[in-house]
Amino acid sequence: MSELLDLENSINREMVDVWHHLHQNPELSMQEYKTADFIEKALREKTGVDRIKRVGETGLWVELKGADPERGDIIILRGDMDALPITEQNALPYCSRSPGVMHACGHDVHTSALLGAVRVLEKYRERIHGSIWFFFQPGEESLKGALTFLNDPEIDIAKVKAVAGIHVAGDLESGKVRLKEGPVLASADPLKFLIKGQGGHAAYPHGCRDPLVAAANLIIQLQTLVSRETSPLDAIVLSLCHIQGGSKDNVIPNEISIEGTLRALKKETRTYIQEAIRRICQGIEISLRVSINFEFEGNSLPLYNDGELIKIAEKAAQKALGADSVVFAENPGMAGEDFAFFADKIPGAFIFIGARTKDGPPASGHNPEFYTDEGAVRTGILTLASFALEYFGVDF
Ligand SMILES: [Zn+2]
Ligand SMILES: [Zn+2]
Repeated sequence: MSELLDLENSINREMVDVWHHLHQNPELSMQEYKTADFIEKALREKTGVDRIKRVGETGLWVELKGADPERGDIIILRGDMDALPITEQNALPYCSRSPGVMHACGHDVHTSALLGAVRVLEKYRERIHGSIWFFFQPGEESLKGALTFLNDPEIDIAKVKAVAGIHVAGDLESGKVRLKEGPVLASADPLKFLIKGQGGHAAYPHGCRDPLVAAANLIIQLQTLVSRETSPLDAIVLSLCHIQGGSKDNVIPNEISIEGTLRALKKETRTYIQEAIRRICQGIEISLRVSINFEFEGNSLPLYNDGELIKIAEKAAQKALGADSVVFAENPGMAGEDFAFFADKIPGAFIFIGARTKDGPPASGHNPEFYTDEGAVRTGILTLASFALEYFGVDF
């Protein structure tokens, strides 16, 4: 057995216990106080890392200096820590103890795997020519956590050469990883519209300015952006999912609100669509005598994987998890991930790790019955640790 597998074996039970603890005690985005305390305590008691610093209130920046840290590269390994507002519906012995909050996206696996990676990589520190920063990140689901790291004045991201992160895949068997270079995931921007007209008696529409007819126009015209203005080979999704307004069959309302989401795989397309939506709103304002307030928060980016880093991840996973452990994804997904903020600044590798039980059914994230196989913790630790070792050219 290899040195890395031996090291992982020696801490695996402990890290599975960490995973169970985190799963039982989930916390929502940017409220990961107990999670951060728990991880910080484990780091202080069980490791000799060179730095443990809070980022924001619930993030942790951990530094492990190898040999010759001043001249070697710095790389980041990142794991997110937040849970979702979902009530768990599994009958597992380690189910969530917080009604209405659940680790339904597997971030409990990412956090325990990152802690495991610190423990394992510490044993190699004399052979690593450079440093590793571990980012225990809050608030991925709210797309705010990565920015707390990037906005911290002490963290100089320009000094960093590479960033790697993992995400569980409920349709992939544990022990395997899924890789893709280039576009991996989409930007995910909420869209909010408030259409204001003038309400009144439904029998006298000519005395009103009907926001409902304007809403119907807006919905139809927005769909033409995807079908008529962007290339069919440049995937975007524009879904409107929530519409509200009106109170009775014979009352024309004053206003209608609409909410939806925009997903894009290219930054330029995302910008183009954002501007096109404003143009369509202006047209409807003029033609239908309403006002439309369009809100675009703009806190998301598409996620790109660096080709060279994906080659490193492939070699690393084949060595650590087995020659047949790597599968390649044909297409990107249209979900969002705030790891994109790091990968926008420095070369990144976002790696999907298997979380499905062998012969078990695939599990879908963000579902009250989502679960991960115990083997996902080992897959995560080995994926992160082997990536770092392969990057620094260390035998493992
Ligand atoms: Zn999620
Ligand atoms: Zn997630």
